[in-house]
Amino acid sequence: LSAIEAVEPRIAAATRAELADQRSSLKLIASENYASLPVLATMGTWLSDKYAEGTVGHRFYAGCQNLDTVESVAAEHARELFGADYAYVQPHSGIDANLVAFWSILAHHVETPALAEHGVKGVNDLSDADWEVLRRRFGDQRLLGMSLDAGGHLTHGFRPNVSGKMFHQRSYGTDPETQLLDYDAVAASAREFKPLILVAGYSAYPRRVNFAKMREIADEVGAVLMVDMAHFAGLVAGKVFTGDEDPVPHAHLVTTTTHKSLRGPRGGMVLATKEYAADVDRGCPMVLGGPLGNVMAAKAVALAEARTPAFQDYAQAVVDNAQALADGLLRRGATLVTGGTDNHLVLIDVRNFGLTGRQAEAALLDAGIVTNRNAVPGDPNGAWYTTGVRLGTPALTSRGFTTSDMGAVSDMIADVLTSATARPTKEGKPGKARYDLSADVVETTRAAAAELLGTR
Ligand code: PLP
Repeated sequence: LSAIEAVEPRIAAATRAELADQRSSLKLIASENYASLPVLATMGTWLSDKYAEGTVGHRFYAGCQNLDTVESVAAEHARELFGADYAYVQPHSGIDANLVAFWSILAHHVETPALAEHGVKGVNDLSDADWEVLRRRFGDQRLLGMSLDAGGHLTHGFRPNVSGKMFHQRSYGTDPETQLLDYDAVAASAREFKPLILVAGYSAYPRRVNFAKMREIADEVGAVLMVDMAHFAGLVAGKVFTGDEDPVPHAHLVTTTTHKSLRGPRGGMVLATKEYAADVDRGCPMVLGGPLGNVMAAKAVALAEARTPAFQDYAQAVVDNAQALADGLLRRGATLVTGGTDNHLVLIDVRNFGLTGRQAEAALLDAGIVTNRNAVPGDPNGAWYTTGVRLGTPALTSRGFTTSDMGAVSDMIADVLTSATARPTKEGKPGKARYDLSADVVETTRAAAAELLGTR
């Protein structure tokens, strides 16, 4: 950091402060983790200084032999770890991975047949009129994904994201009683809507998904099954999700981030069957710029780590810890979406604490517990204030927390949520943003957290 200090001290200070924050708080954001030192060190190298647009052995720049090695090794680890036909490790983030997958599917099912119909080799050979027809066809495709309030992700066809502008979107939700995925309802919706793409995967659904059933639904309506395993890739890599719960043998394409439960660098990846490999390989320059050589290298290191027995123990511990956290919260009277968890995340419906998600998130942060507010199914407070708080165990498990620590963590959370009170608005209406929390609770919780963290 002294080298950074000499050039821009504010960045050195922010980097130091972030380390202190991450060390001194209970990091329970379900999408965060602590990457290992080898992964972090690999990101900070001169591999970042090289351009390598294109794909292995077929670059638009000279001198890419070392980046070819980096990309090949990362892809080899990904293929072998997940048992995939093909792996594309260039996407810079999860959103990019989804964009690559969407455009690959469009290329495969819309562009290629259209080009054949027009008797031309590539889009550049189309006349303006034909190109206009093709563009309209691209824009006429349908996507069926999980609704945001049931736990789906913005990139699964929602308006603020480009996927919502590219596709006609429809969502499937969860059963209003059980809050669990209702496969018959998904099938009925697919039969009626006839999507080109059925997306499975989530950011805030605390249960496992049966991907064999999702594939049956996709096959019945002739859709492509795309699974976004960004959140639970580490549980697939660690062999906690196997058989019908492993998306790779069932989906045509699987996308993921590499920085969540997989514990790698911030980035994305696409796995595909042979059928889609050539289309996905066009990701750069189709929707991506030059790949980040240093990050692809760090993906290779993280994937090598994920192939060890120690990582399988870690993945199992993530799930055990989430269940212990859920049990502790239930004992303290919390309402959990779906009644519990069988993956890495827990979603508390904070209504019975008299709080909105935003108030609960802020009160927990005051006490040194970092979480994020999240919508719950049928959320009455909308996407900004929300009614839920999402918790996840990948980061604390990396820090060495065990199920016996989770009792203490759930008590701290319950203490804060019970003590915090919503502050009414000036007009005396129930407030959604402001809250009161006693300094005593803040202090006691911070001290308890420091004691737990201090032993690691
Ligand atoms: N897909 C899912 C299911 C996610 O939860 C996320 C991130 O939260 C993404 C995609 C996007 O990942 P990124 O932030 O790396 O673009």
